[in-house]
Amino acid sequence: MESLDIQKIREEFPILSREVNGKPLVYFDNAATSQTPMRVVDAVLHNYTHTKANVHRGVHTLSQEATDLQEEARRRVRDYINAESIEEVIFTRGTTEGINLVAASFGERFREGDEIILTVMEHHANIVPWQLLQRHKGIKIRVVDINDRGELNLDQYRSLFNDRTVMASFAHVSNVLGTINPVKEMIAYAHAKGVPVLVDGAQGAPHLSIDVRDFDADFYVFSSHKMYGPAGIGVLYGKKKWLEEMPPYQGGGEMIEHVSFNGTTFASLPFKFEAGTPDFIDIAAFVKALDFIKEYDIRNIASHEEALMRYTTEKMLEIPGMRIFGTAPHKCGVISFLVNDIHPYDLGLLLDKTGVAVRTGHHCAQPLMERFGIPGTIRASFAVYNTFEECDIFINNLKRLITFF
Ligand code: PMP
Repeated sequence: MESLDIQKIREEFPILSREVNGKPLVYFDNAATSQTPMRVVDAVLHNYTHTKANVHRGVHTLSQEATDLQEEARRRVRDYINAESIEEVIFTRGTTEGINLVAASFGERFREGDEIILTVMEHHANIVPWQLLQRHKGIKIRVVDINDRGELNLDQYRSLFNDRTVMASFAHVSNVLGTINPVKEMIAYAHAKGVPVLVDGAQGAPHLSIDVRDFDADFYVFSSHKMYGPAGIGVLYGKKKWLEEMPPYQGGGEMIEHVSFNGTTFASLPFKFEAGTPDFIDIAAFVKALDFIKEYDIRNIASHEEALMRYTTEKMLEIPGMRIFGTAPHKCGVISFLVNDIHPYDLGLLLDKTGVAVRTGHHCAQPLMERFGIPGTIRASFAVYNTFEECDIFINNLKRLITFF
């Protein structure tokens, strides 16, 4: 493991040198969205100023160039996640759209009484699309609980499978607890029961190396904006055998082979699932975010983030009345907490006055909040550019602010 030159990395992120409320910014809201290095911003600018043309439509040079950039991005994503082919890489608007696509399209085959296994730690993006399906298909949703450390109850997970189970869908990493779920083991169990699995990788892809073939995931979804890339795009990986069988999710241009009022035929993969003009500018720029991660190596990034998280956790536990939600030994990225009965919103607001950006609230995981019997938490989350000095600023400000209550 190599130690990273964090100051050099920070130079790529101009936003990190700005002040907020007269104080240097300490950006600890990376689980919501990470900041973007200049190489990505420059690529967006370059694509707008040099190669903007609609993709897959024109014979002219600009259109060819824009198409080449987008398709190069698809190859790069394939390599990044170790997918077998580019046909398995669908560009979406993000994790949310990826899950909606699978629920709507793969879900077509489900019948009344079929069961789907989710977990109590899911983000709303991995709950509500299945509930929408539940409404018009009459499927049942079964939910895996967690223990006090915030780890999934795997015995219960295994016990929920029966001959009506048609799908399991769970987070790689919890956005509230930071728990890294044993996805490979969970997928192997589901497959032994003949059940396909979707993994919500929104919080996994930014911190862990992703190998969809090693996991043997049927679907894996993630968002660019949480991994140093542009906002508004994401990826759905799906096994070709499923994607080929699945009906289109949306209709329109790009996704057809031939259209007639007597019947329309659809484009081959991956275009069958990419109706309309894609966000080709940002898709092409996403390559630069993948370059960034590759340059510093996801393993080094993860080990730096873990060191920050462990250091901060230890200091936080010295604070009387501190409650940390999510204490699994195998966790990454985030620290969710409450102090005494201080409302998270009040503490979050005061931390902001000191330049520290944290997230407060239910983090789009209301069932998990209900499980803990709390309305919300404060969440500090880390990225590669964060420093130990920032952790100290956060801790010191936190300690000082708590005395006001
Ligand atoms: N799942 C998880 C675990 C998340 O953390 C998030 C983002 N907060 C999402 C899904 C949704 O991602 P997006 O808003 O980028 O679609």
